[in-house]
Amino acid sequence: MREQYRRIGDHEIMILEDGILFASPTLLSHVEGENGLAPHLQKLGEGNIPIVVNMFLIQGPGGVILIDSGLGGAQGPDFGKARLLLKEKGIGPDDVDHILLTHFHTDHAEGLLYEDRSYFPRALVHYPPVDLAYFTNPEERDKLPEARRAAFAVAARVVAAYAGRMAPIDAGIVSLGFKSMPLPGHTPGHTGYLLDGQDESLLIWGDVMHLDDRQAADTELGLAFDIDLARAAATRKLVVEQAARNDWVVAGSHIKGFNRFRRDGAGFVAEEA
Ligand SMILES: [Zn+2]
Repeated sequence: MREQYRRIGDHEIMILEDGILFASPTLLSHVEGENGLAPHLQKLGEGNIPIVVNMFLIQGPGGVILIDSGLGGAQGPDFGKARLLLKEKGIGPDDVDHILLTHFHTDHAEGLLYEDRSYFPRALVHYPPVDLAYFTNPEERDKLPEARRAAFAVAARVVAAYAGRMAPIDAGIVSLGFKSMPLPGHTPGHTGYLLDGQDESLLIWGDVMHLDDRQAADTELGLAFDIDLARAAATRKLVVEQAARNDWVVAGSHIKGFNRFRRDGAGFVAEEA
């Protein structure tokens, strides 16, 4: 088990594993099409690929903060485990002050809900407005296949449940110690959060990668969950370069533990940080 806890300045950060999803290799795609994809499929084999689902607990001067909310209770006992981890730490739903959302996909936002009510009765939800605009637009929903539409319904339910407790967080704004960093492509408003510390900085980058080894080596490899494959790949390359150059510590919703990226041939490699 990799380290799930880190202290940066006066912030304590804990990675909370919500569950593991299993993705079919048929969900993989590549900017260069079949030719780009073939070597990855060969390496990965035919079985489903386990992908961790994380959310984050941060305790610091801003109070009790979550980044994303996991899937909550709606998807059965294999998910929503982050709620139990919070409970074990003595943190109840009404202890949470703020939630920063990276985007509105269900494994990030559905845990905000208990049926159609807010699971966190006091928390203020900070969200990227570009993402909410997209996920509340029925024309955009209708462009996607049925299986990719769940987040639109979740976004509508979150807006209703958190009426009066939703705060847009614009690009580059520092709030609660975190600077918001637009990382578009996976979703239009997909956003990372950078905690700038004196000795080290931590970027929590949401869904920049789902398969850290493969996608570090080849940033053009994507998944069907990326709404704009090419834009997601361009963002991935830029932000990995930036993280490597600045020696940032990186954590993500679908990569394990705390990592540093460094150049390795034409791509990058992740090392435990
Ligand atoms: Zn996502």
